[in-house]
Amino acid sequence: MACLPLVRVGPISSRAVSRLVVVAGGGGFIGGHLVRSLLASGATVRAVDLKPPGEWHQRFEAAHNRQLDLRTLAGCREALRDADEVYNLASDMGGMGFIERNRALCMLSVLINTHLLMAAREQGVSRYFFASSACVYPVTLQTRPDVTPLAEDDAYPAQPEDGYGWEKLYGERLCRTFFEDFGLATRVARYHNVYGPFGAWTGGREKAPSAICRKVAEAKLSGRHEIEIWGTGRQTRSFLWIDDCIEGTRALTGSDVSEPVNVGSEELVTIDDLVTIVEDLAGLRLERRYQTSAPQGVMGRNSDNTRIRRTLGWSPTTPLRKGLAQTWSWVYEQVEAQQRRERPTAILDLGARSPSAVDIRGGGDKAPDLSIVVTSRNDEHGGDIGRRLRFFINALLHQTRRVGLSAELLVVEWNPPEGAPRLHEALPRPSAGDSLRIRTVTVPREVHGRFRHGDAIPLYQMIAKNVGIRRAHADWVLCTNVDLLFSDALADFLARGPRDSRAFYRANRCDVPDELDPGWSVPAQLEFCANHILRRLGGPQPAEEAEERGIPSPRGSEQPPDPRFSHIQPAPRNPNWRYAAYLQVINLLLRGAEMGNRQFQNAVRIALGGAPPKPVPADAPPPPDPELPPEEVAYRTLDLDACGDFTLMSKAAWLDIQGYVELDLYSIYVDSLAVCGAVALGYEQVVLPAEACAYHLDHPAGWSSLAGIERLRFLERRPGLDYQTFRQVALELLRGRRRIDMNSPTWGLLDEHLEENTL
Ligand code: NAD
Repeated sequence: MACLPLVRVGPISSRAVSRLVVVAGGGGFIGGHLVRSLLASGATVRAVDLKPPGEWHQRFEAAHNRQLDLRTLAGCREALRDADEVYNLASDMGGMGFIERNRALCMLSVLINTHLLMAAREQGVSRYFFASSACVYPVTLQTRPDVTPLAEDDAYPAQPEDGYGWEKLYGERLCRTFFEDFGLATRVARYHNVYGPFGAWTGGREKAPSAICRKVAEAKLSGRHEIEIWGTGRQTRSFLWIDDCIEGTRALTGSDVSEPVNVGSEELVTIDDLVTIVEDLAGLRLERRYQTSAPQGVMGRNSDNTRIRRTLGWSPTTPLRKGLAQTWSWVYEQVEAQQRRERPTAILDLGARSPSAVDIRGGGDKAPDLSIVVTSRNDEHGGDIGRRLRFFINALLHQTRRVGLSAELLVVEWNPPEGAPRLHEALPRPSAGDSLRIRTVTVPREVHGRFRHGDAIPLYQMIAKNVGIRRAHADWVLCTNVDLLFSDALADFLARGPRDSRAFYRANRCDVPDELDPGWSVPAQLEFCANHILRRLGGPQPAEEAEERGIPSPRGSEQPPDPRFSHIQPAPRNPNWRYAAYLQVINLLLRGAEMGNRQFQNAVRIALGGAPPKPVPADAPPPPDPELPPEEVAYRTLDLDACGDFTLMSKAAWLDIQGYVELDLYSIYVDSLAVCGAVALGYEQVVLPAEACAYHLDHPAGWSSLAGIERLRFLERRPGLDYQTFRQVALELLRGRRRIDMNSPTWGLLDEHLEENTL
């Protein structure tokens, strides 16, 4: 499972170092987050759960993961062997639907707490934490939506929720008696509706926040804009963000507070409010259907945090809207991924497309086949951007019309300059009958202002593209730039494919003089570009390989090669290629030597300018094998040249690699890291044939045109990644076949409500 940096380290981190901490229910929602937090503070952790580890919500290799049934005393003894601290988060539970229909199962969790307490006493553990619940409070105090917040003493006289609530109340009493009679230091938290990523979101055990996120995601993805809500929607609750829950739990466990304490939020909302927030995050409104006969729990419940504030000085800090943004994003990705798994993947063959596939012409509702993501702002950013943007859009309109490609161009307008017309007012517009739809999404100055280097970097290119990726409507997303014209062969490929969802596609960039005349037709502009290539960036693709993949390639067809390209040699892929070749030769020679060809070896050494070798004793160890490690070989085969100019992947793959890593830095190397990240996760790089290229209007601006001290000055103003760090990260990704995992779940500013305009 992916690991997200969600948890702040709690205030008792130093206690945890080098003690064995057991998390019972470590495969569950809260348990998984707790394990992460404990590991982060250096604890030795044993995570125990009834489910096989493959089914855990999160699993950490750094923890000792055990599958045990904690309803049995033997299982508990095994789980707590040598333990110093125990968190009991194991129970058979779920949301209101599960609890109301499975009272006996819920009550049987009493066996877990009973046997864990017995084993903890035998083992002499120093701390025992028990996860209780707000369900212990009398139902009679929770009959109105405008409920009085529940304080700890309200639990008695007891009339808890039938089944689950009684089990928790009995569990609390058991902890108290073990403390009073046997001196076991027990701590009890009464959790109030904890929510966040990595919890149950489907299958019947999910709670309200995840269930609502799932329903809204399903509505968004299906286009059926309705939602079923259990109850009247007027029930009130407070919801606690998972990081706050973990922090409160650890603070309580490390404290001297032995009586039960509320660990909840005091931000009261109705279920209807909850739905509205998720709708806001999803950017839609749904027709609500209330199921008043469905389980809905009590009418109102809120936490009174007076005791925990007084005793521990602790309060939750995450507003509901903020936590929900992350939860929504995570649940949405789960729903999307599930639907993808259920849908058979087919290689797109746009050549054989049915007529309905181009129905978006004229602005209909059908999703386009391709989302093209660019970013810009209406100023002199990188030269006269407005002029080049017009060339770009006019050529794109021409090409999409010519090849019948249904596409959307998503222009992310970042930090629009004051006083200048906005892009949606200034851009060329599609005409009736065009198969290109143009949307602008604006990241306002206030959001830009939150970035540390925002004064020096007016446009965070890669984060802007993430904004587009997250909002793209098509299954395929091309990230590109606004100073390019796509060649006919490239437009043909975009329209006809084939595209393989386990691959990503790179096209060469050909720099051409920025001398296009807006009065020329687009074919004339393209012809000028083809005849005036200044330099080519990007790796070559052998014609046979292209043919094998079914990619149209004049070189692989009966057509003779295009003479316009015959003089252009592709640039070497890596500046170290000579060294790599040299190593390969040496390697071969040494292997020859290993086979006993001493004379041959001597001749080679002398030929390379070395002294004749000393005689090697028969029992000497074999010479070291200078073969390159696989990640280095993989790295060298990557086509990283100008990859910000053309990287095409399925949307699923972009989500999988979590887009571009969002650094508060100049964008250099960030695009390359995305390519390395994709290869690390198993996506195959396909370099399109040379003819399928993007012409780039050359402009002497930005990083690449600078050298020496000027470059240093540039970097001083706009800090960016250096090559060494980039390379190390790239190799680490390739070696570990892993993600960078630095983006928050709301990467691409998913939690921001951004203005959108359709042209
Ligand atoms: P969860 O269902 O995600 O996790 C509970 C875990 O316990 C599961 O992984 C389950 O497999 C495991 N388990 C069940 N029976 C077991 C057994 N016999 N042996 C070993 N493991 C077993 O639930 P959660 O949301 O992470 O809740 C953790 C604790 O907090 C539970 O005790 C729950 O009652 C309590 N709680 C949670 C909330 C909430 O909003 N999530 C609210 C109040 C109380």
